[in-house]
Amino acid sequence: MSQLAYRRVLLKLSGEALMGDEDYGIDPKVIERLAREVIEAQHAGAEIALVVGGGNIFRGAGLAAGGMDRVTGDHMGMLATVINALAMQDALEKLGGKARVMSAIKINDVCEDYIRRRAIRHLEKGRLVVFAAGTGNPFFTTDSGAALRAIEIGADLLLKATKVDGVYDRDPKKHGDASRFDRLTYDQVIARDLQVMDTAAFALCRDADLPLRIFDMAQPGTLLRILRGEDVGTLVKGRDAGR
Ligand code: UDP
Repeated sequence: MSQLAYRRVLLKLSGEALMGDEDYGIDPKVIERLAREVIEAQHAGAEIALVVGGGNIFRGAGLAAGGMDRVTGDHMGMLATVINALAMQDALEKLGGKARVMSAIKINDVCEDYIRRRAIRHLEKGRLVVFAAGTGNPFFTTDSGAALRAIEIGADLLLKATKVDGVYDRDPKKHGDASRFDRLTYDQVIARDLQVMDTAAFALCRDADLPLRIFDMAQPGTLLRILRGEDVGTLVKGRDAGR
């Protein structure tokens, strides 16, 4: 039925992606636009799961730097991702999508608990699944949550939407002559010490051989172009020969 290059994908959106030009919280126009892109891609035939971060509200490391107990701060950060996931669920449903938030922390008056087989069933039935609360453990990030869930649900591709249109050899905001990689292997990312994801998340992707695409979602239609197989952003895939 679909001409897509990928059957099932997981899209990681940072909390900051929901903020738009605000300093904090969620910009309704921005989340609506992101939700529209997701629905459009789903209508093209893809099964789509999402992980949303919480950095637009709280990050444990930032709270700890201000004097708070780190584990408490991380619990607050994880709850922030639940808030964002509920907002995303609402935005998806306003546009006619069927969505389910599944949380790694039990909070089942507001959303479902994460149960792997149930998540897969939702996807098979045409529902969008929004994974909340990261891994459910302190000292991790939602990038790790995204890598973990993508592997668990058998996603063909992990998509990480960022504010930069891929991975560069140097920071493109500081170096006008920085060049973007179209493709990298996991070994090249490590050898060049490129900052693609945090180390735990990256190790999960590498060990599971899960392809990862880093891209900028600011351009409308980008998600669908990727699912159709276009080379947008940077693809990280495979090992170097001999390793
Ligand atoms: N967090 C956590 N464990 C996880 C995922 C997230 O403790 O498995 C906490 C952590 O404090 C983190 C915050 O939730 O800073 C928000 O997640 P993250 O920083 O990954 O959000 P993003 O940067 O993607 O917006």
